[in-house]
This record gives sequence, C-alpha cells and structure tokens, in this order.
Amino acid sequence: METLVYEKLDNKRVRCGICNHFCTIDEGRRGLCNVRENQGGRLISLVHGRLIARGVDPVEKKPIFHLMPGSLAYSVATVGCNFRCSFCQNADIAQMPTDQNGLIQGVKVSPEQIVDAAIENGCASIAYTYTEPAVFIETVLETAKIAAGREIFNILVTNGYMSREVINLVAPYIDAANVDLKAFNDDFYRKYCKARIEPVKENLKLMKSLGILVEVTTLLIPGLNDDPDQLAAMAAFIANELGVETPWHVSRFHPCYRMTDRDPTPVSSLKRAVSAGKTAGLRYVYTGNVPGIEGENTLCHNCGRVLVKRMGYGVSSAITADSRCPDCNSHVYGLY
Ligand code: SF4
Repeated sequence: METLVYEKLDNKRVRCGICNHFCTIDEGRRGLCNVRENQGGRLISLVHGRLIARGVDPVEKKPIFHLMPGSLAYSVATVGCNFRCSFCQNADIAQMPTDQNGLIQGVKVSPEQIVDAAIENGCASIAYTYTEPAVFIETVLETAKIAAGREIFNILVTNGYMSREVINLVAPYIDAANVDLKAFNDDFYRKYCKARIEPVKENLKLMKSLGILVEVTTLLIPGLNDDPDQLAAMAAFIANELGVETPWHVSRFHPCYRMTDRDPTPVSSLKRAVSAGKTAGLRYVYTGNVPGIEGENTLCHNCGRVLVKRMGYGVSSAITADSRCPDCNSHVYGLY
C-alpha cells in the first residue's frame, strides 16, 4: 500500500512524512524503520495488514489504567520500529527487518477482520501495540475508523514520534494513548534510541490538546534515567505541560536485547520516581510488579479512597458511571 503521507522529490527520491525522522529515501531503498520502501518513486508500506502479533490482553497490560479498567483489548502489531532502543523488550518483532536483513513476516488480516475478532472476543478496545504503530499507521487508521463506527475504543501504545500531520489524521479515531517518555534528555534519546526527545514532548502536548486520553510510561534504567534531577524534571513536565491528572507509569527494567550490562531497577529508584511524581502534584503514579510501594491501585486524589483495585490482572472498580469517587464525588480522569 502507498504510504499515507509522503512527498515526491527529484530523481525519484521521496521524503516520508509518517514520523519525525522524515527519511529521504532513494529509489529502491527503505527508510530507517525498514518497512517503507521507495519503489519506482512511490513510497510503499511493506507491512500494511500483515500482522506479526494479535491477541487478547487486559487493557491494564498496555498499560492503560484510565479507560475501562478490567476490560479486554484486542492487540495487534506488524514488524518494524522507527526507534533502535538497545533495551527493547520486543526486539524479536520490532527490530526484525533491521536485524534480519530486511525480513518482513506477518499474516494478512484485513481491518474488518481485526474489528470482527475484537468483538467476537468481547474486547472493549483495539490496541495498536507491541511494536510502534507509526510503522503500520495505514492499518491503524483503516481499522480505527471501522472500530469507532462499531463503538470499539482505539488505543495507541507508542513512542510518540509520529509527525504532527499523522497525529492530526488519526486523532479523531483514537481514544487513548500510552506514550513512552523514555528519559528527559536528548543525549539518552540519541544514544540509546537513535531519536530525539523534543518531538516526543511536543507530541504529548498535541495528543492531549486533541482530546486523547494520554498516559505516560517511563522504563527506569539504573544509572541512565533514574537520577533525582531527571525524575523531578520528567514529573514536572508531565504535571505542568500535560496536567496533574495525567497518569504516569514507572516500570522496572530487566536486562534484555542489547542492554545486558546492568541489573534490574532497584526498588529505591521506583520509590524515587513515585516521590518525584507526588512532589510535582501528579494524581496518579503507578509502579508495576514491585510489592510494597505505590503499586497499581487507583486512589481518589482528594480523599484517598481506593477506586480501582488491581491484583495481577484482576480488577474491581468503585468509580461511578459519571467518573466520580463514590465517597467524596471528586472527578476521576478517564472513561469508565
Ligand atoms: S516511518 Fe519514520 S522511519 Fe519509517 S520511513 Fe517514514 S520517516 Fe523513516
């Protein structure tokens, strides 16, 4: 399929407009994600409708905690990514075309079939996840339009590097997004992800302003992004630029892919992040798989009542149908 947004240049070169790399691609070559190829002066997506992964997940696994807690999300991905994170947890599929000589695998599934499968499996949403949805944005857009028409929510799980034009195109059909904020300095993004931080910050603000329910995730990597100053800066950015209601998930790193030279994140780092979040005024800070600290429950920001109790993927919610705390009537960010 022809790429949704690109520009034709001289000598059959093209400039991709899907993400902030804006790759200029010669005839016969691919962009940095390795899934968009210049074929005779036309930029073609090699992964459109070719799913490498599909399955039913709890929405909490995305993680999305403020859209229909306890519901199921039909989750889909193609191969490919526009980042090169050395700590990637899904590198076998995300970096497949790059690490395996251009290899692209996947099963042909139409957008209608994806939506049908979501409904048949009792899912409240479809999540575009596991790899980066920017690389299969044509599939996202076609599927999300159909899903929205059938009252299924759409969720992006993304590194936040799409172009503004693409975000504006998909936003009318996207209900929620979990966006990685991988660190709070450009050196980290350049060195470990082969990208830049500024577009991610701008896109977070843009998504929020377009009415998308935004949750932010940071994987804390010992010695790289867990120092107190960086955590405080990240928390302040989320609170001041996105709003104190924006949920922040801080999660634990485990050695994988090309980053095996350090230990899993110590609990002290996660505690530091929770405390930075609270100091900045964030209402919802979550840690996963770490007993004894803030955890995964949603508390009322006003009275402290447990509103959503999460044990593994078992979820019980006390939030009222109009998104309020049943005790003090305070509003709870999200859709319930
Ligand atoms: S999606 Fe991004 S990485 Fe891929 S070709 Fe387009 S601009 Fe380059």
